[in-house]
Amino acid sequence: MLNPFLSILPPRVDTVSSFLNFHTRLDVLRLDLVHPVVSGNKWYKLSHYIADAKKKNKTTLLTFGGAYSNHIVATAAAAKMEGLNSIGIIRGEEPVQWSHTLKNAASYGMRLLFSSRADYRLKTIPGAALNNGSTESIFVIPEGGYGPPGAAGIEALMRNFLPANYSHLITAVGTGTTAAGLVNASCDEQVLGIPVLKNNNSLLSEINALVTAEKQSRFQLIEDFHFGGYAKKTPELISFMNSFYEATGIPTDFVYTGKMFFAIYEMLKFGLIPSSASILAIHTGGLQGNASLPKGTLIF
Ligand SMILES: *Cc1c(COP(=O)(O)O)cnc(C)c1O
Repeated sequence: MLNPFLSILPPRVDTVSSFLNFHTRLDVLRLDLVHPVVSGNKWYKLSHYIADAKKKNKTTLLTFGGAYSNHIVATAAAAKMEGLNSIGIIRGEEPVQWSHTLKNAASYGMRLLFSSRADYRLKTIPGAALNNGSTESIFVIPEGGYGPPGAAGIEALMRNFLPANYSHLITAVGTGTTAAGLVNASCDEQVLGIPVLKNNNSLLSEINALVTAEKQSRFQLIEDFHFGGYAKKTPELISFMNSFYEATGIPTDFVYTGKMFFAIYEMLKFGLIPSSASILAIHTGGLQGNASLPKGTLIF
């Protein structure tokens, strides 16, 4: 049996007994704790891709992402642990100052190739990535790990925790691969996804493309908590993240999980989730993203 991530800690579930005056059961699957740099859902989304790459005797993983992409770092680290080479195709011209993300990825041995926005959109593989002009040794993982193997990795993870009498499973949504894995692993829980991007009109159909037909009706996207769009934030969000940390000891990031917990809070406040609910929220990690905030913004 393949165990691709030997240095990953098994994830644990924390129960938050009092969530800012609500007494609804809120359990948090702490994927943020599984690895100091490469935390979160990305490991699990990658696991089936990597197994497939190895089966096909590929030596190099190649994937796509922006300069702040958690998926890029995770792919770099996973490749290193598995003895594979990695190449990251990064959206846009090379920045003068590399982000933490790019530095981390490079420290795991990833070759970074910068791609103009037009080329990036087409997901062309630059000539510089090829080995003697050939793609034979390269295994391509789609941007964000989106695809059936990505969802299957999350589903396999969730089978360790379900069924367990939850009424709701909740996650932040980027590509929706994680949400799709939750839906496929669900028994009769309702699955709620909180998109962190604004106006991605194809998101629901992209998620449904990864979801077993009879389970599609269990899933809902809750659109009102993106705070203006990807990596956008407001003082209210930051203040919520600090209060949430004070109340629970759980740190969140402003791009994904801060918005998700804020959404849960608001939905409980307005009765959109009944107080009798029993919630499992997925802490998808991403805490490294907070490094771009000015010092002192967060109390953790
Ligand atoms: C990438 C990421 C997500 C989104 O996962 P998808 O499967 O693309 O929806 C959520 N949270 C964090 C912290 C992430 O890094």
